[in-house]
Amino acid sequence: MVNQMKLEFLNRSENESFARVAVSAFITPLDPTVEELTEIKTAVSEAVSNAVIHAYKEDEKGLIQLECKVDSERRVIIIVSDHGVGIEDVSKAREPLYTSKPNEERSGMGFTVMESFMDKLEVVSGTDEGTRVTMLK
Ligand code: ATP
Ligand code: MG
Repeated sequence: MVNQMKLEFLNRSENESFARVAVSAFITPLDPTVEELTEIKTAVSEAVSNAVIHAYKEDEKGLIQLECKVDSERRVIIIVSDHGVGIEDVSKAREPLYTSKPNEERSGMGFTVMESFMDKLEVVSGTDEGTRVTMLK
């Protein structure tokens, strides 16, 4: 690992933009293209917004961890994790248009966006244990 950082913040919606900016600043030394940067920031937003919206029960305060690593081949690894309710069926959750909150104007495209903008997406989750999303680019 050439460089790495770890942040922890509350499940508040304003921390979605904080996470985007933090990752963006962290990977700036890699001199990413505007397109790469936009894709990574969008994927981070989707992962963090999922943790904000879905991980904890309404009005429950919960922590979200964001880790970012850069390896010797200049690959960026981003890990977003929570200790919330978890996902019962991960493969179903990853399907395009699947959302457990259809009434709240969610489109069910978060995981699909992460998958298409990043080179690799891994989702590990356990009911009442939480969720860990690992993305690589
Ligand atoms: P959109 O991202 O388009 O606003 P969405 O968040 O419902 O809608 P996805 O991001 O694809 O869609 O997530 C699919 C489903 O996976 C969610 O509806 C939710 O049920 C579940 N999910 C995702 N992330 C988490 C998480 N961190 N904790 C618990 N459940 C999650
Ligand atoms: Mg989502």
